[in-house]
Amino acid sequence: MAESLLRFVDVAQEHPSKREAKARTTDFQEIYEDYLRPKAAEQAARCSQCGVPFCQIHCPLHNNIPDWLKMTAEGRLDEAYEISSATNNMPEICGRICPQDRLCEGNCVIEKGFESVTIGAIERYITDTAWDKGWVTPPSPKRELSQSIGIVGAGPGGMAAAEELRRLGYQVVVYDRYDRVGGLLIYGIPNFKLEKEIVRRRADLLRDGGVRFQLDFEVGRDASLQELREKHSAILIATGVYKARDAALPGVGLGNIIQSMTFLTASNRKGLGDSVAQFESGELDASGKRVLVLGGGDTAMDCVRTAVRQGAKSVKCLYRRDRPNMPGSMREVEHAQEEGVEFVWLTAPEAYLGDDVVRGVRAVRIRLGAPDATGRQTPEIVAGSSHEIEADLVIKALGFDPEDLPTLFAEPGLSVTGWGTIGIDFRTKMTNLDGVFAAGDIVRGASLVVWAVRDGRDAAASIHSFLQKKLAGQPNESNDPERGGSSDKGKSTKRASRRRVHQSVD
Ligand code: FAD
Ligand code: SF4
Ligand code: SF4
Repeated sequence: MAESLLRFVDVAQEHPSKREAKARTTDFQEIYEDYLRPKAAEQAARCSQCGVPFCQIHCPLHNNIPDWLKMTAEGRLDEAYEISSATNNMPEICGRICPQDRLCEGNCVIEKGFESVTIGAIERYITDTAWDKGWVTPPSPKRELSQSIGIVGAGPGGMAAAEELRRLGYQVVVYDRYDRVGGLLIYGIPNFKLEKEIVRRRADLLRDGGVRFQLDFEVGRDASLQELREKHSAILIATGVYKARDAALPGVGLGNIIQSMTFLTASNRKGLGDSVAQFESGELDASGKRVLVLGGGDTAMDCVRTAVRQGAKSVKCLYRRDRPNMPGSMREVEHAQEEGVEFVWLTAPEAYLGDDVVRGVRAVRIRLGAPDATGRQTPEIVAGSSHEIEADLVIKALGFDPEDLPTLFAEPGLSVTGWGTIGIDFRTKMTNLDGVFAAGDIVRGASLVVWAVRDGRDAAASIHSFLQKKLAGQPNESNDPERGGSSDKGKSTKRASRRRVHQSVD
């Protein structure tokens, strides 16, 4: 049944119902139920169809939100799906895990006193329905091109680029060192936020459309970047960032102090049915333990909530700032609190305690002082506040940096920024190496899935334009990784020798 629009005045905001904390912590299933059709239509009808839609401006993909809300309200779900999928390669995934409170929904301009439209939940509903109805189809190019593109990294950035390039007819090979497609969607983000089946069906769709995946293949170990460049007409690097930041405190070598990705990967593998020796031995299993997680971002939230589900005796999260200054999404903090996690704000670890294995940390209290150059208040130690916090397992969730790709890829000329991310020319998405592009976290630093999708799409468009120009014999603009805010660290930016590019089109 069609709903009239502008219903925000008489219809209250209603998210899909959330499972009770007690029930949801006994399994790893997603915590939100699905909308039923009338509810999705009713909630979509709350939109006031703004002339200048701030929701759309603040969505990294600039999704045409008002239009797909209107179609949903009018019961025209197939059209809603057409519009939604035109700008997003994985709307059902973004609908589940985007921090909407900081992006689209956080900028919805519905009158003060009325809450935002539930954009993410409706986006998820539209595409879940499309999957059920069989409207989601593999990329199917109108014509095949002989040029092949090598993509390094099968995370959301690589997947989005692969789909776009395949649609254009390119032969696409995606290399990944993991044994499954999805990157952090599979081995980082826990099932209770994103069930793995949802990622698997996206990977299958790409395979069905002719994208080839070469898994268990690590660039740097199984081939150098140069070898891949000789095989393909263009390369996209979408390898993400995985070097865990550390708190090199006294006692750091004790047992039972682990990194967040080690913990989350083991848990995700377990959920996927893999046998994980360190989990079976109890080393990476939080069950029955007093768990202490260090950090206040979304990775820390995923660790605390995973530990709860594994049956930890207690779970604490230690963060040196206060709740309003936590980098993680407020929704995730709320979920964690509902699930019994204790937050120890304004506290920082000083040392790990124990003989062989950790038995706790010595911590100090923090007060927030004057703002620094970035405007954030500087944490200051409160004198004489040293105290002990007991723990049997300490998980460090302190963020990630890029690996040293020029060394790993045996390509010392590859330009990197002062942060170690890959330097690209933001107009062309190309690195300083001819025909080598980059996208996602490896360019931005640890970021979001929706930004990786955006970058993958942009890089695909740039690769297409680069190869079209080559085919037409036109010069490509020289790429300057310093354009657009990316600073070169001083590494050689010497152009690598140009390769012969297969130009023929079938
Ligand atoms: P990745 O997803 O990291 O994929 C990179 C791929 O490259 C991996 O599969 C890796 O195996 C492969 N690779 C790396 N090096 C090589 C090599 N040498 N050879 C071959 N393959 C290689 N974002 C959100 O929007 N919402 C969330 O809720 C959210 N939760 C998160 C939770 C955790 C625990 C973490 C760690 C991140 C989370 N993020 C979240 C961030 C998000 O997952 C990333 O921003 C996004 O996955 C980046 O995509 P990407 O394609 O650039 O890289
Ligand atoms: Fe909002 Fe993310 Fe969807 Fe954009 S992709 S509309 S930011 S949920
Ligand atoms: Fe609708 Fe809110 Fe977007 Fe306006 S800002 S178009 S009300 S969803």
